[in-house]
Amino acid sequence: MNPVELIRKKRSGGALSKQEIEALVAGYVAGTIPDYQMSAFLMAVYFKGMTPDETAVFTDVMLHSGKVVDLSSIPGTKVDKHSTGGVGDKVSLILAPMVAACGVPVPMISGRGLGHTGGTLDKLESIPGFTTQCSILEYTQIIKEVGLVLIGQTEEIVPADKRMYSLRDVTATVESVPLIAGSIMSKKLAEGIDALVLDVKTGNGAFMQKYEDSVALCSALVAIGNSAGKRTMGFITDMNQPLGLTIGNWLEVVESVECLRGKNIPDLMEVTYVLGGAMVFLGGKAASIEEGMNLCRSAIWSGKAYEKFLAIVKRQGGDISHIEQLEKHPVASLLREVKSKAAGYVTGFETMRIGLLATELGAGRQRVDDIIDPKAGIVLKKKLGDKVDKGETLAVIHTDREEVVDRAVLELGACIDVGPTVVPRKSSIHALVDAEGIRSWIPTTQY
Ligand code: URA
Repeated sequence: MNPVELIRKKRSGGALSKQEIEALVAGYVAGTIPDYQMSAFLMAVYFKGMTPDETAVFTDVMLHSGKVVDLSSIPGTKVDKHSTGGVGDKVSLILAPMVAACGVPVPMISGRGLGHTGGTLDKLESIPGFTTQCSILEYTQIIKEVGLVLIGQTEEIVPADKRMYSLRDVTATVESVPLIAGSIMSKKLAEGIDALVLDVKTGNGAFMQKYEDSVALCSALVAIGNSAGKRTMGFITDMNQPLGLTIGNWLEVVESVECLRGKNIPDLMEVTYVLGGAMVFLGGKAASIEEGMNLCRSAIWSGKAYEKFLAIVKRQGGDISHIEQLEKHPVASLLREVKSKAAGYVTGFETMRIGLLATELGAGRQRVDDIIDPKAGIVLKKKLGDKVDKGETLAVIHTDREEVVDRAVLELGACIDVGPTVVPRKSSIHALVDAEGIRSWIPTTQY
């Protein structure tokens, strides 16, 4: 099959057959279709979309580009969670050990930073020695021993997503429902789960900024999961400000460790407890999401979640002395404060611009082969609704890049709005989507 014809067909809005999608994906994995043709195809999908049937076939073809793991030898309901990506979204680092500490096995295959958003793999790899690549045998063994595993796509498991994901990152082809659905659901269906919780972000730092688009994406993902026989539920969560206080790989590990040790960062822990509660519920250890949330809180307060995190870091080759003594890790050479020009309240964040700025500071990639600086990023001192004095610090920039730091201070200042009126704090969870449809989520606990 001629790839140029397939690109042209998609560019003209045609629907590709199963054989055509298979030829493109298999050719790309085998190396007979080069990056430039796949980039053109991805851009055609970005503009013309895919039908629901094409999306289902695309997901299935991606899934079968590698092996599908069988975890039936491990007792219990295996549950994972996946986020569509956000700025400062370090939920997986806290949630996976927390849910495993509640007795639910968590097999997790994650991705790297994508576009303006960070990735769990880059965060984990900022821990010296931590390895996110292993064989299926090792993957299964780690879950048996520790109760969770945190890896990336490999040459064995979803190799098509491994290659396409990094290509999409640098070709502006991330924000597409079928491409996101294929990428996320192929990874999730390959990892051996029984059930899945999805976190679909909405707002000015999300790939899907409009609420209706986030609902459409969430419904598509939930439908694919349920039709594959995996009980799937999704939450629409807020991304109108970075989640928590840090953006950047090691900075986010530090914040996650502090939360695992019991610190409460309200928006971050609200999302973590709700998604974790849903996982514990789907994993059969609680009769409701709320009961699952209480078990998750106990796992944090008792120190069991933190112990699980130490155990998985150690098992996957990480140096736990950097976790036990966070100050041991190197810090960026330039730390620059961004000060408020006025007194008032924080009324808004330009979240996507903040994510892109973190990339420029060294926290993300602009080319496939860019090396990440784990120390680089941003620490927020204020969140939406916080009171600010004139001259007070809004955020601190961490970087080694002298050539960007002055501009970054100005740009970050322009990304944080301060106004005279206080904006009310809202729940970070907008809605729950499951096989029965969409419902509003009523928060039962103040964070
Ligand atoms: N997360 C993924 O794994 N893939 C996407 O395309 C977007 C977010």
